[in-house]
Amino acid sequence: MTAAAAPPAAWWRPQANGQAACDLCPVGCRLRVGQVGPCGTRANHGGAMVPLHYGRIAALALDPIEKKPLYHFHPGRDILSVAAPGCNLHCAFCQNWNLSQRHDASTRPATPAHLVDAALADGSVGLAFTYSEPLVWFEFVRDAALAARAAGLKVVLVTNGYLNPGPLAELLPLVDAANIDLKAMDDRFYRRVCRARLQPVLDAITRFVAAGVHVELTNLVIPGHNDDDASLQALVDFVAGLGRPVPLHFSAYHPAWKLQAPATPRATLERAHDLARQRLDWVYLGNIVGATGRDSRCPGCEAVLVDRAGYRGVSRLTPQGACPACGVVQPFVM
Ligand code: SF4
Repeated sequence: MTAAAAPPAAWWRPQANGQAACDLCPVGCRLRVGQVGPCGTRANHGGAMVPLHYGRIAALALDPIEKKPLYHFHPGRDILSVAAPGCNLHCAFCQNWNLSQRHDASTRPATPAHLVDAALADGSVGLAFTYSEPLVWFEFVRDAALAARAAGLKVVLVTNGYLNPGPLAELLPLVDAANIDLKAMDDRFYRRVCRARLQPVLDAITRFVAAGVHVELTNLVIPGHNDDDASLQALVDFVAGLGRPVPLHFSAYHPAWKLQAPATPRATLERAHDLARQRLDWVYLGNIVGATGRDSRCPGCEAVLVDRAGYRGVSRLTPQGACPACGVVQPFVM
């Protein structure tokens, strides 16, 4: 397999002094000749911006779609999941830092056509760009998404939502579903722990929803950092204000990379779940063994809509996405 030839980088401007200004994400880098962006995905080669991982992949696996996590999008199906190294955030607690933060992670060649063929052969519902940050793998994700759509496959992003409005508007028409991390409703948290800002993430979430993309949100609950009731309530209020049902996943943190706080206790997740359920119908708990809050239940009659054991979901919804007991159509994409 040879790598697909890289097209010119998108969303950058040459500067008079040989620097390259990147307009892809809110970090807003100006890279000197020879410099690699802190995301590890773009570099200034001789005054021109180059996408470093175009046609290179670091991970490829057929996963249950519940693992993304997406609980309301083709429940029970598998999705071919792919990643390149790199991320534009630097969260001290990153659970995937070996891929997101190590610029020397090994890669192998791949083309959009190869990924599409593999997805079709595997019976996958589509392609998921996940594990690291797909938004800064922009050119390859765009081209692979185009190929996937042309083959009738769905396109899924698992993302931090940290992208400027222009490139996001270019990408959104190619995206069917996204799980977006909302790490805290606290700009100080984003600055201190992730070296980023909150508002661009909130804006991106709003844009995904407005574009009609199926959206679910994940909040990694970290003891002592974002697990107090006021923080959780602010998060829930934001989700409730998005104007349509958006499933919210509270995920357990485990010590990783630079943050070695104690793992999230089950009781903390259950407190978050109970608080959120006062305003939201669709709240789930993840990354913890045997947790309640995995199944989807009808808000009206409590019937099980999707039965989940581990990452495997078994849908009991009708083909139209209605509750099998009371017949009310539920917000699932089937
Ligand atoms: S995508 Fe990378 S190079 Fe571009 S602004 Fe963001 S961090 Fe900097």
